[in-house]
Amino acid sequence: MIPSVLPTYNRAPLSFTKGEGSWLTEADGRRFLDLGAGIAVNALGHAHPALIDALHDQAQALWHVSNLYHIPQQQALADRLVAETFADTCFFTNSGTEACELAVKMARKYWYEKGAPERVEIIAFEGAFHGRSSAGIAAAGSEKMTKGFAPLLPGFVHLPWGDIAALKDAIGPNTAAVLLEPVQGEGGIRPLADADLRAIRALCDDAGILLILDEVQCGMGRTGRLFAHEWAGIAPDIMMVAKGIGGGFPIGGVLATADAASGMTLGTHGSTYGGNPLGCAVALRVMDFVADPGFLDDVRRKAGLFRHKLEGLVASHPDLFQEVRGIGLMLGLKCRRDPAEIVAEGYRQQILLVGAADNVVRLLPALTISDDEISEAVARLETVAQALENGAR
Ligand SMILES: *Cc1c(COP(=O)(O)O)cnc(C)c1O
Repeated sequence: MIPSVLPTYNRAPLSFTKGEGSWLTEADGRRFLDLGAGIAVNALGHAHPALIDALHDQAQALWHVSNLYHIPQQQALADRLVAETFADTCFFTNSGTEACELAVKMARKYWYEKGAPERVEIIAFEGAFHGRSSAGIAAAGSEKMTKGFAPLLPGFVHLPWGDIAALKDAIGPNTAAVLLEPVQGEGGIRPLADADLRAIRALCDDAGILLILDEVQCGMGRTGRLFAHEWAGIAPDIMMVAKGIGGGFPIGGVLATADAASGMTLGTHGSTYGGNPLGCAVALRVMDFVADPGFLDDVRRKAGLFRHKLEGLVASHPDLFQEVRGIGLMLGLKCRRDPAEIVAEGYRQQILLVGAADNVVRLLPALTISDDEISEAVARLETVAQALENGAR
């Protein structure tokens, strides 16, 4: 008999009833230190008072109106994102994968309107994750996500992660865009070197094609800059955002330059809920924190502290861990055994970790995690490591 909740997730036997900052309380009363943050969603931790106020105030005023009307909160959020980024324009969605849908449509429409309708091909990379919509799985291309879902949306090419030479060869007369995550998340916390991102930008410029960055996971302060591509000193033409932007309220979006967005004219795209007053009011409040240079300074400082302590953990458990990887508070522990075992032992030690591909355990804490909580996290990870080494289970 099929469960009443479609069984597409392998869920841990935990259910949380309350969250506060970096802590979650389980139904049985145990408190867990949350290093998953809803998979990089709860950027300001759980139950941040400013976000509760923003949501509460907006809920009392107005929940939903159609995009047939002006939505002041949406306008304010778009203005703010345009002011803080490369972008000239924004469209809001409810999720990351919807942002992928629009990014793909936008790139293809761009070329159609430029009189080059043959340019439909989007070059993506192995290990990528762009969500679970039809465009998202076709863009990622892995068998794990696409098997059984044919026919897939055509027009995607996949190259080894970060292979600049292969990219150079792959760009051709049918190429519309290159699509990538500056730091692969699900793929195992794999950052692209700044020099490689600059090289990809240069290849796109030389060929006159669009660069689409998926910053759904690595954006919104996660790497210690508002957006991860800022580290390389380059800008995309189109960028997907979601996860952290709503701090836990579902909202995503596509940011683009005026040129890249030029094909998306009246009637070419839409969404019932996208850009609704509740989501935009909360995201605007998230921006007040995350776009603050002092906040980002603190993320970088804490990231240095965390990383330093994790290097120590890895050094004392060489049989368990291979390396620390990542940037900012988007960190990964490359493991020498199935990361699922480490995540499971974490549950016993009341610390929440998230697995990823490439034998990596992800550490994606709230950006508001304190120094003491970082120390506590490493202490719990130490206990996890010892338990596994002692073969306690
Ligand atoms: C999570 C994620 C997505 C998909 O976002 P959803 O909101 O789950 O649709 C897309 N791209 C990246 C990089 C992600 O991490």
